Amino acid sequence: MTKGKVYLVGAGPGDPKLITVRGLAALKRADVVVYDRLAGPQLLQQLPAETERIYVGKRPDRHTMKQEEINRLLVDLALQGKTVCRLKGGDPTVFGRVGEEAELLRQHGIDFDIVPGITSAIAVPAYAGIPVTHRDWASSFSIITGHESPDKLDRMIHWDKVTNATGTLLFLMGVAKIGYISEQLIKHGRSPGTPVALVRWGTRAEQATLVGTLGDIEAKVAEAGFEPPAVIVVGDVVRQRETLKWMENKPLFGWRVLVTRARAQASELTERIDELGGEPYEFPVIETRPQSEPGAIRAIEEALAEAETYDWVMLTSPNGAEHFFAWLCRTGTDIRRFHRARFAAVGPKTAEALLARGVIAEALPSKFQAEGLLDSLVAELRPGQRALLPRGDLAREVLPRELEARGVDAVELDVYENRLIVPQDDGRLLEMLRAGEIHVVTFTSSSTVTNLLEALRRLGETSPAELLSGAIVACIGPVTAQTAAANGLKVAIQADQATIDGLVEALAAYRRDPTSRSN
Ligand code: SAH
Repeated sequence: MTKGKVYLVGAGPGDPKLITVRGLAALKRADVVVYDRLAGPQLLQQLPAETERIYVGKRPDRHTMKQEEINRLLVDLALQGKTVCRLKGGDPTVFGRVGEEAELLRQHGIDFDIVPGITSAIAVPAYAGIPVTHRDWASSFSIITGHESPDKLDRMIHWDKVTNATGTLLFLMGVAKIGYISEQLIKHGRSPGTPVALVRWGTRAEQATLVGTLGDIEAKVAEAGFEPPAVIVVGDVVRQRETLKWMENKPLFGWRVLVTRARAQASELTERIDELGGEPYEFPVIETRPQSEPGAIRAIEEALAEAETYDWVMLTSPNGAEHFFAWLCRTGTDIRRFHRARFAAVGPKTAEALLARGVIAEALPSKFQAEGLLDSLVAELRPGQRALLPRGDLAREVLPRELEARGVDAVELDVYENRLIVPQDDGRLLEMLRAGEIHVVTFTSSSTVTNLLEALRRLGETSPAELLSGAIVACIGPVTAQTAAANGLKVAIQADQATIDGLVEALAAYRRDPTSRSN
């Protein structure tokens, strides 16, 4: 068997966008990903479902793999001919033990690449508004481990040299030793007034910063109960934070926001949350795919065969539009055969989807509900007209009913199916929900509500609504909110306008002032 290959990849400090392009390519190419706690869970979600994932980090219920076992695992996987991505937090060469892993691979003649990452030592202070150098205050920096016992630290670190040789000192794995570290630095010549910052979980929703001086930081850490992992920054550069603090000022900073809508449509919401400083966590519980039921397919074919007979084609969602056109392609139906029909769209996104295919929608309703479409069309409808309604299998009945009431012959077509999916995320979502690490849950349709609850049930949660009660529930509109409430969820946020923009605005408004809107 040909040997596989191992990519030793730096994942960056946590924000999933802080991986390198090369690192992401290696991750996507891998047959198996071996990862630990510091590699952000969002990165794993970008993997195809068939990629094998092996967690080798700390976990309460399982034993932690020793470094030798990990080295061996990488060798074994590669010997099975697999392409392996060993994903490590930050940069793999900075306290990442990549040397040991690479060495054993070399001994077995296994090909490897080292793909550098953005080290937390620099990125985490940057996210706290602390550049590690400064023209006047620090022309060098050192990255130092704080991991070892005081004895070993003393043997490994020449405190006198470290204290005086460089400007900024960056300690990793040092929170538990903060007292000893500051004591040594003062003893060897740094002033007790030297600014110090501890930045915990930098680049993630939990990012928190504690600022003090060498003289008082130990007491402050104890008082705040400040826990690892954190980067410790020692030096005058810390002062820059007063003016350069940026991440914490963003409107959604500190919120990890669950995005439940279909992967194909999630990106807009995910990007907006990210832009506003929130941390999106995609957990798509719905998937749309072309209609597959034979009876429904026959109905589509028959309806399209009569393209010339329609006065209206009414589309109620971008999905509907997309699948309608896909069926035109599949059945070889030229759009020009709908020459009699006027096209109408519910909502700006549906209109956009039509426009992208060269069709200008007739009516843009003011409200983004099926009723709204009708309000703006009522004057134009005539008894005896025919309307084609391509939609999903879960579309609501309002529109066809109202059309029929006005004597319009409404032909409904289920052009696509909505399917429940349960994303593979290695139990991370359940873990985070239980730990209160999902701050907001967003629902963009009724089926995202029912599907999420069902997905959680399938993951082994017996009372999913209760599990979600620790999070703020945000709904795109009244119908979704009703479904959420009917399923035992307390809806805190409801968008004024049932659009992604509306939802994002409502999130930001609630974050500013939770009392301002309590629908
Ligand atoms: N190879 C990693 C460091 C591994 S050592 C890198 O280059 O970043 C683990 C230590 O890194 C932690 O104890 C902590 O000091 C630091 N660290 C990693 N990610 C961090 C984060 N998001 N926030 C704060 N500290 C982090």
